[in-house]
Parts: sequence; structure tokens; C-alpha cells
Amino acid sequence: MNKRLIYLDNNATTPTDPRAVEAMLPFFYENPGNAASRNHPFGWVAEEAVDYAREQIASLLEVDSKEIIFTSGATESDNLALKGVFDMYRRKGNHIITAKTEHKAVLDTCHKLETMGAEVTYLDVSREGLVDLAELEAAIKPNTIMVSLMWANNETGVIQDMKAIGQICEKHGVLFMSDATQAVGKIPVHPREVGVHIMAFTAHKMYGPKGVGALYVSRKQPRVKLTAQMDGGGHERGMRSGTLNVPGIVGFGKAAEIAKKEMQQDAERLSRLRDKLELALMASLEEVYLNGTRDSRMPHVTNLSFKHVEGEGLMMTFNQNIAVSSGSACTSASLEPSYVLVALGLGDDLAHSSIRFSLGRFTTEDDVDYAIQALTQGVNHMRDLSPIWEMYKDGIDLSTVTWSEH
Ligand SMILES: *Cc1c(COP(=O)(O)O)cnc(C)c1O
Repeated sequence: MNKRLIYLDNNATTPTDPRAVEAMLPFFYENPGNAASRNHPFGWVAEEAVDYAREQIASLLEVDSKEIIFTSGATESDNLALKGVFDMYRRKGNHIITAKTEHKAVLDTCHKLETMGAEVTYLDVSREGLVDLAELEAAIKPNTIMVSLMWANNETGVIQDMKAIGQICEKHGVLFMSDATQAVGKIPVHPREVGVHIMAFTAHKMYGPKGVGALYVSRKQPRVKLTAQMDGGGHERGMRSGTLNVPGIVGFGKAAEIAKKEMQQDAERLSRLRDKLELALMASLEEVYLNGTRDSRMPHVTNLSFKHVEGEGLMMTFNQNIAVSSGSACTSASLEPSYVLVALGLGDDLAHSSIRFSLGRFTTEDDVDYAIQALTQGVNHMRDLSPIWEMYKDGIDLSTVTWSEH
């Protein structure tokens, strides 16, 4: 095999589409204006470009452009949504419901809110990665102000039943916030249609640039109010002060326009390649397991566990030329299994043996063929070296083995 570089980590970040880059370029030097400068043409040009991008994004989501607030990314949007709503509605109640599989931008923010008087329920998910709707409804109390559940999971690609969750929130009169970072631009995301009132997303997961994101905030039925987390200047309808990242916003808008046009063909092509990858690995290797439901997931993602193969080690057999992500997170002291996979009920062994493949607009069939070959070789290599795999092949029931610790 000759050396190539293959990027299958699009859930971590996507390349910026060259068409978005091209749209951004004039806003660095030729048009340097600050969108808040109301008294000269440089400012007007910048403001016009920002307004246009806001329309492009609103059109993708089928919402009013006045409902789009620009931020620095989804982390900031999640913080603004959760902290801003908690502060504004705390006289009404202090209870927030979320799930154990949320992104850290939501979970860590909820933990912070707990130190500030919030009560937070962290729902379990099923083996498939889905929230139980009856459990969600039972968790709603008179002091519940908000349910925060992600549209699609970053590790597994599992898509929650947004419409059903929206109906439950509607019935009980609680706000529905969603981190839709992994879904926007890749599958149809129309918050109004499913009853999402506040929604966080970011440009760099949908082929736009890094460092720019947005929060959708419903202006009617209901009109959501939130407290700004950044003071100074009152930009973005007073919800987020700070000079707008004009080139970034222009690239974000262009990325949204492209997504609206090309999402369906991208999704069809990528789901075919994803299925090819998944089926080939499952056919050529034993003991490969899919993590998360097959029935409701993003078209470009598969998360697989290769039993008795340690994911980080497997990645070392090819990670100088294939970029994927493993289900282990390196913390300072140890290799922790992914909390998302643990929440799905995977044991440490299967969580540690998982690999997330996330394809993207620029993934080719050759990339996938190469990955199939490299993964098959890597897994076979690891298993050939593994005494545990040998015991398994000899028919020894590993659950009955007592391991001594030294
Ligand atoms: C990437 C990601 C974020 C963080 O987005 P940034 O723009 O990098 O801050 C938040 N939530 C989810 C689900 C993500 O995948």
C-alpha cells in the first residue's frame, strides 16, 4: 500500500468547502468593515454581507432571519442557551432535563448551573442510544423550565425522535432546546416543525470555517428570552455582544446555502459509502458490533467495536494515514472509555475497542476502499498478537477467567 492521507473524522470538524473560502476572502482586506459601523460604506457592506448570511442560514432552517444569533461556535451557543434561559426563567423554575449522552458543552454547562441552584436530571438512554419518551415525560415536574436534548449524537450519529420530544415539551409547556451541531446541514433540520425553541449549531461541522456558530432563538409561539452572557455593545439584539466575525459569518452563510442545495445528494452518496464500509468490515472480520441504532442515525457515521482489539492500539496501526476517532479519551492519568458508549451500556472492553468513522463531502470511494483494507489488516494484526483473542478462539469463556492483578 502506498501512503495516502484519508480523513474520516468529519464529526470532529469538516474541511472548509473551497466555495465558502472563496466567499470569505473579500472580507479580510477589500471589505474590512465592522458590521456595527453605521456611518460609512465599509460598515454598510459588512452589515449587508452579515444580513445575507443570516438569510442563507435562516432559509436552511426555515426560520426567520431575526431568530439567528451569531456566536463563536456551538460551545458558546450551548452556554448562552442553557445559562441564558436558566437566568431568565429561574423565577418560574430551576429544573432542567438533559441526557447522559449529550456533548460536554451541554453537560459541563449543566454541572456549572447545578452549582448556581439548578436541579438537573440526566436521562439514561437505551442500548440503541435513544431517550425513552415515557421516562422523559415522567421526569417533567412543575419546576421544569427546559428540556435539552441533542438532535444527533457526535459519537454514534444516533438521531433522537425530535418530533415526539417536541410534542411532550409542548404538552407540558416547557422550552425545548437542542444542540443540533451534528445534524444541521447534513439532514433536514427545521426547528419550528418539530417544536424546538432554541438550537445551537456551528459552521465548522458543516463545511464552514472554525470559530463561528449560531443560536436559533424562537421569536414567536413562544418568544424565548434569555440573559446575555457577554456584555458590551448590545450586538445581536442584545443577546451576544462583540464585533461580528464578518468573514466567518459570510463563510457560514455560504456553507448553509451549499448544504441546502446539496445535502440530499451528499447524504445518499455517503450513506452508500458508509454502508459499504460497515458491511465489508463485518463480512471480513469476526466479532464486529455496531454501536447505536441502525434505524435512526446520520447517513455518514458508523461507530463499530472490534471485540478484543484495543481501539487506540488499532489506530496506531494506521493512524499516520487514516484519521478516525476512538472510543477512548486520554485523560491525564488514564485511558477513559467514552462516556457516551458507557451510557449505551457497553462494557469497558467494547467501549475501548470502538472506532468512529465519520465520512464527509470530500470522502471518495477510493478512501473507503483503502480504509476497509487498512482496518482489516490492522484488526487481524492486533488479534494475531493477542493472547485474549487466542483464548477466545480456543473456546475459553473469558467471563469465567479470573485475572490476577499485580
Ligand atoms: C463539535 C460540537 C460542539 C462544539 O462546537 P464548537 O463550535 O467546536 O464549539 C458542540 N456540540 C456538538 C454535538 C458537537 O459535535
